[in-house]
Amino acid sequence: MTLRVDEILVARDALRHPETQRILECLKGTPHRVADIEEPFRGSYDPGEKRLLRLEFHRGAFLKPCPGTRNYICCGYQVLTPAANCPLGCTYCILQAYFNRPGLRIFVNFREALDGVLAVIDNEPDRVFRVGTGEFTDSLALDALTGWNRRLMAAFSRRSNAVIEFKTKTSAVRAMLESPHRRRIIMSWSLNSPSMAAWEERGAAPLRARLEAARACQEAGFVLGFHFDPLVMHPGWREDYMRTLDLLDAYVEPGSIIWVSLGTFRFMPALKEVIRRRHPRSRVLHGEFVRGLDGKMRYIRPLRVEMLRFMSEKLKAWDRDLGVYLCMESDVVWQEAMGWTPRTSEGLSRYLDARVRKFFG
Ligand code: SF4
Repeated sequence: MTLRVDEILVARDALRHPETQRILECLKGTPHRVADIEEPFRGSYDPGEKRLLRLEFHRGAFLKPCPGTRNYICCGYQVLTPAANCPLGCTYCILQAYFNRPGLRIFVNFREALDGVLAVIDNEPDRVFRVGTGEFTDSLALDALTGWNRRLMAAFSRRSNAVIEFKTKTSAVRAMLESPHRRRIIMSWSLNSPSMAAWEERGAAPLRARLEAARACQEAGFVLGFHFDPLVMHPGWREDYMRTLDLLDAYVEPGSIIWVSLGTFRFMPALKEVIRRRHPRSRVLHGEFVRGLDGKMRYIRPLRVEMLRFMSEKLKAWDRDLGVYLCMESDVVWQEAMGWTPRTSEGLSRYLDARVRKFFG
């Protein structure tokens, strides 16, 4: 994908940083201005509006536990944040309501902060760190500009108590394929039904292109992951999701898939207004939602169970050892949809840690 930027806003204190200067050089010709970081500004990275990129320092921890959600079973993932917000434009993206500062942000001090992140990991050799960069942005969408993934691949391939997952909706895998590293690296794709992908995932690669990229990575020796999240109720959803599962079967072998996550569409109430305003033609809000124990809006339980059971049974019929798990669901839904339950977040962590050991030792 080509990253289009209309204006760059540079935090005053980050202006002299070599990474800032390098990125400004890469985007030579794009207007930029310097501003105090707290300066309120208008604009966002929004296809159809002005695409604003901010270059700034990240002051907090770069590695943090996934925020997860209260009262549901979470997977114990660690989120690494070299950037915030995303140049893709999925209508349902939670980040639209999550960040109070709009615009795509690249944290120029990531390179030096990485040593601290690795020290945290090395300090706990008996723990398995499942780390991903694809929670607060797309893992590959900015890499042509930042080039950070090569550094991450080299660093994680030398560790024995961590894996790094690059989660994407792009097909921009060339840099990954050119890297010599495969150990401890998971290339993963978010998938949806063909109609949802085409209608709701603006800026993302078409489904077939994502799967072609996945196939190329598999053939090059990478371990793969897939994420069906959010599963969205829409007319003909069973047939539609089945089409994606058929494509998955056509493009990749199940043997090198470490995990497949499933999650039904859920959102903070504040996102509804944002979706209506920014994506008036979106269909993701069609349907009935109830407020869950964590305050997020979800489909009613029988519908969630129906979708999750459908997907897990079809995946099981394809291969019984895919590491299928549910994202942010209750013990009851696990039992009803999957026929087993890890009971707690710790139980799910143990299950996924065991998948890591199985694939990487
Ligand atoms: S790819 Fe992920 S982070 Fe980017 S807009 Fe879509 S849902 Fe949001």
